[in-house]
Amino acid sequence: MPDMPTPRTDRPAAAPDLPPQIAAAAAAGDAVALVMLDADGVVSACSAAFARLTAQTEAKGARFDALFGPETAPPQAGSVNVVDFALPSGSVAALVWTRAEGGGWSGVLSAAPGRGRPLRADPLTGLGDRAYLASAFERIMAERGDGPAPVVIVVDLDRFKPVNDTLGHAAGDALLKLVADRIRRALRDRDELARVGGDEFVVIVAAPQDVEAAQAVADRIVDTLARPFLVAGSQVLIGATAGLAPAGDGDPGPGAFQDALQRADIALYEGKRAGRGQSLWFEASMRDKLEDTRKLEADMHRALLMEEFELEYQPQHRARDGGLRGFEALVRWNHPERGRMLPAEFMPVAERTRLILRLGDWVLEEACRAAMSWPRPLSIGVNVSPVQIAAPEFIGQVDAALAATGLPPERLDIELTENVLISDPDLVAERVDALRARGVRLSLDDFGAGYASLSYLRQFRFDTLKIDKSFILPAGRTNDDLTGAIVDMGSALGLEVLAEGVETESRLEFLKGLGPISVQGYHFGRPMASQKAVDYIRTHPVADKGDDA
Ligand code: C2E
Ligand code: MG
Ligand code: MG
Repeated sequence: MPDMPTPRTDRPAAAPDLPPQIAAAAAAGDAVALVMLDADGVVSACSAAFARLTAQTEAKGARFDALFGPETAPPQAGSVNVVDFALPSGSVAALVWTRAEGGGWSGVLSAAPGRGRPLRADPLTGLGDRAYLASAFERIMAERGDGPAPVVIVVDLDRFKPVNDTLGHAAGDALLKLVADRIRRALRDRDELARVGGDEFVVIVAAPQDVEAAQAVADRIVDTLARPFLVAGSQVLIGATAGLAPAGDGDPGPGAFQDALQRADIALYEGKRAGRGQSLWFEASMRDKLEDTRKLEADMHRALLMEEFELEYQPQHRARDGGLRGFEALVRWNHPERGRMLPAEFMPVAERTRLILRLGDWVLEEACRAAMSWPRPLSIGVNVSPVQIAAPEFIGQVDAALAATGLPPERLDIELTENVLISDPDLVAERVDALRARGVRLSLDDFGAGYASLSYLRQFRFDTLKIDKSFILPAGRTNDDLTGAIVDMGSALGLEVLAEGVETESRLEFLKGLGPISVQGYHFGRPMASQKAVDYIRTHPVADKGDDA
């Protein structure tokens, strides 16, 4: 069902030859600022909206060019034409002329200052664009008087790209139209809506009664977009996140809209980061946080040059007899002002800026080099993020690290997390094959923590399954049962199973009872500096090669 605003009385009576957009707008009951000329350029009809906008109530029967100037009249040639039209209010609208049957013309004023559906619009959804919204904002501010400030809501779809990629662009387009319809229906009559980017929409809530009223609009939008859509015969869930900001109290000029939009955008960004599917109001602290992130980005460039990163190595053992199996390399950043930082604090920035590609390149080579300096030929685990594995240069980086250090490929153990696999399975399969062809080993990291899917285990061949520490750290019936099941499944598939986060003797004892398993955690050792790792190897018995865990 299309939404049906209350029909307006100034709807033009069955106007012929209307461009489809306008015909649709007219059919939907929107106010259309329409004027019709006969073959002599005389106004034969005009809608009330046109009369109101042009402040010209007696246009009928007069020559259009005499009333409004020859430069706004329809041209001699062509069948469609757009001219600028200065309104008495001071703003400039677009007047779109379309040739009518019998030599006349119909003209429609684009809605910038009016209430009708905008013509300077997004052709896909029929919604306004950014410029339209800016002028709508100006009008709302001008009409506001002492009333409440309008609120800008930026809405961004959470999972549009996968739909577009998997179902095709036609389905993506159809989906965007459905989204536009749902948002429009979540609005009140006087609110404004535009599509300003691929899957980004902006709403202006005009004169909300209070903060809650604007919040309610945002909630309705987020709720309605969280419900499934049916496109191209498939049911898809996309969801959306929204950021809200009221117009500021300062100068209501054109900058006011940009300012509110920017603040709503920052709130949106924060909402995305905080977990999507929600709406957040802008707060000043968000801007500080964003600036902080930007600074961290800048610092990271310097850190790569100044070698502020460092690797630590955490031992991995065979549970049965405690034999040392290998180490996992974990990166740290010795930041000159912030001190020592863990990956959770800087990895998101590194990934977003793609600086992870340079950092990861360094990690690979550094880890291989360290492993080559060890007194025993143990394996070295290196974590690889989704951005890295997708990068075309990744396999080249692995080759270069192995060549530069001389590390035999089978001692390198690349750790991938499950979310690497969902991003682009085909590409990842290609990389996995390339790594396997070189003899490099592969671990599935944090198993069970993400969107675990057993089909990944069938699709990609791993050597080791690393059970996420969230199953191991807290003992408990469910966790223990699940851990047991994962160990059984891993063994059945011929995979080595390694439990992370083993902090206590009692957890180790429990795990030993489950069957052949490897372990890693504070109980054995925290991540340690390179030299400490060498000492550790000297003082711990190494697991025999070829022996099963
Ligand atoms: P991960 O690969 O799952 O690494 C294990 C994390 O668990 C490490 O955190 C480690 O210090 C911590 N851990 C180890 N044993 C225990 C334990 O007994 N108890 C508890 N509570 N924690 C334990 P860390 O070093 O903060 O690293 C976090 C994550 O950052 C890693 O998770 C990995 O996904 C990522 N990461 C680390 N280094 C790199 C890197 O060089 N490149 C990439 N792309 N990611 C990295
Ligand atoms: Mg890991
Ligand atoms: Mg892990």
